[in-house]
Order: sequence, then structure tokens, then C-alpha cells
Amino acid sequence: MSISQNIDKILKSIPENVKLIAVSKTKPQEDIIEAYEGGYKIFGENKPQELKQKYEALPKDIEWHFIGHLQTNKVKYIAGFVQLIHAVDSMKLLQEINKQALKHNRVINCLLQFHIAQEESKFGYDLAEAKGMLNSEEFENLEGINIIGVMGMATFTDDQDQVRAEFKQLKTSYEALKSEFFNDKDDFSEISMGMSGDYQLAIEEGSTMVRVGSSIFGSR
Ligand SMILES: *Cc1c(COP(=O)(O)O)cnc(C)c1O
Repeated sequence: MSISQNIDKILKSIPENVKLIAVSKTKPQEDIIEAYEGGYKIFGENKPQELKQKYEALPKDIEWHFIGHLQTNKVKYIAGFVQLIHAVDSMKLLQEINKQALKHNRVINCLLQFHIAQEESKFGYDLAEAKGMLNSEEFENLEGINIIGVMGMATFTDDQDQVRAEFKQLKTSYEALKSEFFNDKDDFSEISMGMSGDYQLAIEEGSTMVRVGSSIFGSR
């Protein structure tokens, strides 16, 4: 099947209120153009310089999502145009995003990354840390950022029960933050969870954004 057929097939299988981020990381621009010409315009990347190059070369009505771990010193490459930064996991990073956003006269949408997987290596907050961050004085002063939800990555395992439990945990954390900090804020509404192997499960557990790469563009 072609890239566009893969996208159409996934779009048909997910609810309309769930946004599909087509994860094009490591894939050539031609692959993105093929999807774009088929009518799809929402892509995700996880390397700032690669994203910048693709942004510069490709049509300007593409909506670009930064989905991976973002190093503070690389925010500058994407701050001028990125639609959503999915994986914010420190005050230092938030402060840098804020600084770069203000430089570009923008407010940048961000998700807080939660650590839900068992693996040690994955980044992210736990609920207490996220609350501490949102309660801090530093956070109040960030005018260039807009927190619109949470993001997480489940453990890479065949154990569906475990993956489901981790997605449930992310949804619970989302709801805890919503009621304590964002009750009046309608646009705090996103739960970014689910990849090629587990997006159906993620949607069953309340995902509003799925990040799907290999099922669309082939293996990397
Ligand atoms: C690569 C990546 C994805 C997509 O993974 P696939 O298994 O290819 O669908 C999703 N989210 C993040 C953060 C990624 O780095």
C-alpha cells in the first residue's frame, strides 16, 4: 500500500476527534510530499535540525509537531513555526521555549510528558513533580507557552494489560491536572498517547492524539 493509502486506512479506523500525527522522522522529503499530495498535512519529527530543514523545504501549510525529547539548546531551530511540542519534561526546557517563543512573538503550545513506562530510560514527570512545577512561581511568569495537555509513551512490550494500565495512568494524571490547574481552560484537552503498535488501545483509553510512524511510512 502507498503512504496515502496507509494514512487513509488509519483515518478510517480512528474516531474523528482523534488527531493523527504522521511521524515522518528519518524519512525523506519525498515521502512527506507524497502524503501531502494525498491531502495530509500533519507531521511529527523528533530531531530539531531535521525538522527545520523539512520545514524550510516543504509547503508552509504543513502543521509540524515536535514529538521527541527536546534539548534546551535546540529549541531555537523550531520555535518559529512548530505547532505543538509534545514532550516537555523540565522547567529549564519550558523557560527556554518561553524565551524563544517571545523572540518570535508567538505563544507555543506544549504538552507535559509523563513517565508511564517501566523502562528507566524514558523521560517525563510523575504526577507530584508536574504539580510542583505548575505550582511554582517560575511557571506563572511564562507568557510564551500554553500547556494544552499531556503526553506519554507506554512500555515497549507485547503485554497488552500492562500497556493499557500505563495509558490509564496517563489519563488519570491528565484528569488530576485538569481539575486542579486547568478547570477553566478549555484548550487543556489533549492526551497524546499511542504509536503504530498500540494506538487502538490508546484510543480506547482516551487518547486524543496518536503519533504513528512505521504503519504509515514503513519501518525505519
Ligand atoms: C518514533 C516515535 C513515534 C512513532 O513510532 P512508530 O512505532 O513508528 O509509530 C511516536 N512517538 C514518538 C515520541 C516517537 O519518537
